[in-house]
Amino acid sequence: MKAVVYEGPRQVGVRNVPDARTEMPTDVLVRVTTTNICGSDLHMYEGRTDLEPGRVLGHENLGEVVEVGPGVVRVRVGDMVCVPFNVACGFCANCERGLTAFCLTTNPEPGVDGAAYGFADMGPYNGGQAELLRVPFGDFNCLVLPDDARERQSDYVMLADIWPTGWHATQLACVQAGDSVVIYGAGPVGLMAAYSATFKSAGMVMAVDRHPDRLAKAEEIGAIPIDDSKTSPVDRIMELTHGRGADRGCECVGYQAHDPQGHEHPNMTLNNLVKSVRFAGTIGVVGVFIPTDPGSPDDLYKQGEIAFDYGMFWFKGQTMGNGQCNVKNYNRQLCTLIHEGKARPSWVVSHELDLDDAPGGYEHFDRRDPGWTKVVLHPAG
Ligand code: NAD
Ligand code: ZN
Repeated sequence: MKAVVYEGPRQVGVRNVPDARTEMPTDVLVRVTTTNICGSDLHMYEGRTDLEPGRVLGHENLGEVVEVGPGVVRVRVGDMVCVPFNVACGFCANCERGLTAFCLTTNPEPGVDGAAYGFADMGPYNGGQAELLRVPFGDFNCLVLPDDARERQSDYVMLADIWPTGWHATQLACVQAGDSVVIYGAGPVGLMAAYSATFKSAGMVMAVDRHPDRLAKAEEIGAIPIDDSKTSPVDRIMELTHGRGADRGCECVGYQAHDPQGHEHPNMTLNNLVKSVRFAGTIGVVGVFIPTDPGSPDDLYKQGEIAFDYGMFWFKGQTMGNGQCNVKNYNRQLCTLIHEGKARPSWVVSHELDLDDAPGGYEHFDRRDPGWTKVVLHPAG
């Protein structure tokens, strides 16, 4: 089958690899029709991880079930399904509590809970930027889509990751009706967090970034754009909230945060959030913070740890939640919003490409070239 394969830093190729197949009785095999490039793929693409060359990338997948193992009882051949990026079993102590991002069964690496497709350190699972995808524990993991799935794939595919993740950011930040909410990062995840906050009737949503096209997308859904290359985001948020700070804050950038001049500051958005959110306010962090290299010469990494202004965080009595999204907690309800015509998350999509064009898609998205907000790939044409 054709697949997008990691080959080394900033190098992916579309190659022929052995077909994905069912390996366990509980597996489902999906013919992938829509699969996205995600900001999380860039951690691997940029060579920040130790992903072995040859691995198939892609964790935001949608397609048609073409085979089910003998132990599968719910999902049927022909179903259109969206697959959460978490590979979860459904029966371990964490899955039982809804913590499917921290499944105790699916990651064979000792001491690491949780698994994902096409990811470094998240288990051996190949991704779905390919013609076929093996879905372990298919009955649990596949979200069977409604009858309009084939026509609305670019909406439903956002249920694999970025819409639930944006929603998770607002859940972790405890967003309630009327709240003022600041979102750092107006990439696909930040835009979905802003979208989620509007669905939760936030009183005011502010989005911080420096790419005009991404800020314009945020503005399209009623968020106030804040360009941190032109103004201090903290000052602007204080001004907009009459000197108090936002009620809630969402971090949708991660440890690759940089200043508008392009210098990396892994702690920049965390510390800006502590400053921008009010006393006793709440912060949700979904941007990825991978444990950093203790040998890094950058003293912001402080011997492998990311420097965080804990003193101010404590003084302000703030609360923070973080981590990978438990997609299954949200995807069914968000699916209903799409099906009922209340949501159209595909508004973040800027490009729909054939799988063969993935290397160019990665290049543009990685450079955050103007207009390249979210890239969707179609392996099956
Ligand atoms: P992205 O990299 O395209 O978006 C990040 C945006 O942040 C960019 O537009 C960039 O200009 C902006 N940015 C950089 N530094 C900034 C700063 N100092 N202040 C404000 N904005 C800044 O990627 P994305 O797809 O939107 O993903 C964002 C993060 O979310 C990544 O770390 C990704 O790995 C993570 N993620 C987490 C989960 C989860 O389950 N927790 C799921 C998906 C993605
Ligand atoms: Zn993703």
